[in-house]
Amino acid sequence: MDPNELFSTNLIDGTISSHINRQCNPQPSVIVIGAGISGIAAARRLYDASFKVTVLESRDRLGGRIHTDYSFGCPVDMGASWLHGVCNENPLAPLIRSLGLKLYRTSGDDSILYDHDLESYMLFNMDGHQVPPQMVTEIGDTFKRIMEETGKVRDEHPHDISVHQAISIVLKRHPELRQQGLAHEVLQWYICRLEAWFSADADMLSLKTWDQEDVLSGGHGLMVQGYGPVIEALAQDLDIRLNHRVIKISNGYNKAMVTVEDGRNFVADAVLVTVPVGVLKANLIEFVPKLPDWKVAAINDLGMGNENKIALRFDRVFWPNVEFLGIVAPTSYACGYFLNLHKATGHPVLVYMAAGRFAFDLEKLSDEAVANFVMLQVKKMFPDASEPVQYLVSRWGADPNSLGCYTYDLVGKPDDLYDRLRAPLGNLFFGGEAVCIDDHQGSVHGAYSAGVMAADNCQKYILEKQGHMENPPLVSVRHEIIESTIPLQISRM
Ligand SMILES: Cc1cc2nc3c(=O)[nH]c(=O)nc-3n(C[C@H](O)[C@H](O)[C@H](O)COP(=O)(O)OP(=O)(O)OC[C@H]3O[C@@H](n4cnc5c(N)ncnc54)[C@H](O)[C@@H]3O)c2cc1C
Repeated sequence: MDPNELFSTNLIDGTISSHINRQCNPQPSVIVIGAGISGIAAARRLYDASFKVTVLESRDRLGGRIHTDYSFGCPVDMGASWLHGVCNENPLAPLIRSLGLKLYRTSGDDSILYDHDLESYMLFNMDGHQVPPQMVTEIGDTFKRIMEETGKVRDEHPHDISVHQAISIVLKRHPELRQQGLAHEVLQWYICRLEAWFSADADMLSLKTWDQEDVLSGGHGLMVQGYGPVIEALAQDLDIRLNHRVIKISNGYNKAMVTVEDGRNFVADAVLVTVPVGVLKANLIEFVPKLPDWKVAAINDLGMGNENKIALRFDRVFWPNVEFLGIVAPTSYACGYFLNLHKATGHPVLVYMAAGRFAFDLEKLSDEAVANFVMLQVKKMFPDASEPVQYLVSRWGADPNSLGCYTYDLVGKPDDLYDRLRAPLGNLFFGGEAVCIDDHQGSVHGAYSAGVMAADNCQKYILEKQGHMENPPLVSVRHEIIESTIPLQISRM
């Protein structure tokens, strides 16, 4: 039997240490919960530092909100697909470089559409008529002005309000910025893209923080071969137990114990939790003792957004060779967006993306109904479109392993929320996308850094407790060597 695995199901918190003391295992041990990028990065870090690490993962696959699907015969990312910040400062750059993974850059710095430049696209209205590109550019400038004006509204309001409220105030004050007809629909499309970036509707987003993100430089690059290889490389040689759903974490004085769905217990010196905030919000894991009120409040005060992808594979390409296609509509809710994977990867695949309430609403439909709905949009733009040969539909909002896609700042977010989220509790450490320290919440590189940070803190804590701090066995990747010898492979066709 694995010394960290205990089959007794009736252990309670107070008896953990006496039970463990009977086992002689001098190697410091950590249980990491969740095999997404954050958990795997943490486990890698601890494993490289000679810790005994066991990763418990509820799904039957690695990667969590990174999910590269290969059923189309080509990689399609149903979760994360962009590297946000194609630059050497990106903590994932050394790994991506060393794996020789290609990036297709869809935007440079400070793009109005975040991950896209207005360089290669086509927008259509609901009747299938193309929106003149000049109008898209002009309304883009108007949108920028409106958002700049919301800065003044913020300065005037001591209390936080929503981005939606701020836009309404700006439009009331500046009639010249209000739009009619098709121009109004294009403006709604810009708002729709802003909402997609945060995965939440504008009436949920904090005016105080929406533009305070510290986005890395270098623009945004699509992972042409998908994010999957990054996960596989990081996970190599780690002890990862799939289909191990954690239901309880007992935090003892010296040790912590984790109980999985079938009643088995795992014990270690520390536990590092990287499950999504959606899972914590829903109380799917019982903490013994209960999490303190300040931690629970931090979890509850953070927003968990939703985004879903519907990938369609066709037998031929019937759409133009542009990076993305969009449909404008009278409300941001009804606007649409398709990523043309053919342009970046050469495969005849369109990926429709829905965010916020619309993403939750789509999950109420069957996969077939969702695909039919998306095909109606395709046929508005291209009446002669062929039917898809295959389709994939994500359901990040309803999936009990995620319960949302990534976090965002709700209106009135307390300033110390992230500090409270990431604060350890004795033998319990917290990683995951939401606890990232450099304002990179909601991203893959942020989740990675959060995992590494939590692992380092956990390592320091255990070594200090064991009195080994004078010579911590840290092993770090020689990033600077990789950086100078292997460049990032970036293209734009
Ligand atoms: C649709 C979508 C698009 C995105 N696009 C991008 C993008 O383009 N670029 C970008 O940088 N980021 C993007 N993101 C965000 C990015 O994917 C996440 O920030 C990041 O992958 C989160 O990693 P994580 O390890 O913190 O969490 P996760 O990947 O969610 O890992 C947590 C793990 O915990 C497991 N788990 C849950 N409950 C339990 C339990 N009870 N017991 C055991 N295990 C459990 C889960 O199965 C999961 O594997 C996107 C996300 C989504 C959903």
